[in-house]
Amino acid sequence: MIYVFLFILGLCFGSFLNVVIFRTTHNYSPFSGRSFCPHCKKKISWQDNIPLLSFFLLKGRCRYCHQSISQSYFLVELLTGIEFVWIWFLIQSNLTLLGQFEGFYSLLYAAYLLYIFYVFLGITVADLKYGLIPDFLVFSGIAVSSLFVLTSYNFLLLDFKSYFISGLGAGGALAALIILTKGKGMGWGDVKLALLMGLFLGWPKIVIAFYVAFLTGAITAVILILLRKKRFGQTLPFGPFLIAGTLAAFFWGEPIWQSVSLILGIK
Ligand SMILES: [Zn+2]
Repeated sequence: MIYVFLFILGLCFGSFLNVVIFRTTHNYSPFSGRSFCPHCKKKISWQDNIPLLSFFLLKGRCRYCHQSISQSYFLVELLTGIEFVWIWFLIQSNLTLLGQFEGFYSLLYAAYLLYIFYVFLGITVADLKYGLIPDFLVFSGIAVSSLFVLTSYNFLLLDFKSYFISGLGAGGALAALIILTKGKGMGWGDVKLALLMGLFLGWPKIVIAFYVAFLTGAITAVILILLRKKRFGQTLPFGPFLIAGTLAAFFWGEPIWQSVSLILGIK
């Protein structure tokens, strides 16, 4: 029962995330008025705004102008629904990530993860679709993670300064890279995202995140050029790779670190 409730709650949050992604990349306030069709600008009634269901009932098209609605709307809702259920599963199983904390703190930590992954999903979709990382999403992520690190370092039993240094270091490193390469392929949105990554991951996981991001980004670029989907020198949004690196470092930081140091022969 709780799973069904959380899934539906997640769908609603996913629906809101779609609104935020569209509005923040098109110079609207994320909280202004009712949603409208991006093609014909007609207001969308509540019957046509039910997560997942409306997409099926309308067969993926606007009721008025019959232009197709991007499948990403459907996907974002579904993924957010799954995310909410997954977080509850983590709390229930209490094994992996949350096992180190007790009671209230494990719930606080779960809420924190829920929000950060929600922000990551929004940034990924916005960067893939519009080539932009919305300030609204990335700054709210930075604010929440700063607050979390500051207020919870005594139960994390970690040096909170290292999280801030990781964030500033990661942002600074990308900023330096942009200045040196004159901004080829990366933008200031990526710098803000790197700051969030450092705050979220801390040291040394931030290094693993960068390693995975640059490696997968380079491999993807080569594959796209070979498939002739992209020309050499064309840019690829880097945000999704940074986030893929963050997830890899967060969940598999230790095994990645071990295998890399094994290959490089360092202990
Ligand atoms: Zn329309």
